[in-house]
Amino acid sequence: MIEGDYIPMTIDAQKHIALIAHDGKKDEMVEWADRNKEILKNHFLSGTGTTAKLIARRTGLPVRGYSSGPLGGDLQIGSRIAEGSVDFMIFFWDPLEAQPHDPDVKALLRVAVLYDIPVATNTATADFLLTSSYMSSEYTRNITNYNNEINSRFKEI
Ligand code: PGA
Repeated sequence: MIEGDYIPMTIDAQKHIALIAHDGKKDEMVEWADRNKEILKNHFLSGTGTTAKLIARRTGLPVRGYSSGPLGGDLQIGSRIAEGSVDFMIFFWDPLEAQPHDPDVKALLRVAVLYDIPVATNTATADFLLTSSYMSSEYTRNITNYNNEINSRFKEI
């Protein structure tokens, strides 16, 4: 069992980037991805169904597509974060429109914070992230270690 308050995990130089944009933000996401394709091409890209298709079509880059967001795509990406196979996220959620899958959006953002992955939720933050020196080097993220807590619960039962 891992001791200590945090479990360190490495984000490799080549990152596993998830791209998600709500309908009202898709144009902005596609423009952003196209403008940054020279950087993005050095990483592994994935995204929710429609966002992935639109970015792949515009940039010519391979983007692995999950289900569409309202059909569970956000939750699929959340599960990839939990298992460690997505470690970077650009998520342009729409602040002006309620979504049928709002609970999934909240779950995805929660998991991203819990697993300490970089997240950009608007163009300015995405630009700052992509110009970080960490984009071309390893980075150690720290995940809160709940092992002691879980073990103490077992002892109580
Ligand atoms: P979409 O999903 O890329 O399939 O449209 C995005 C979302 O609404 O979460």
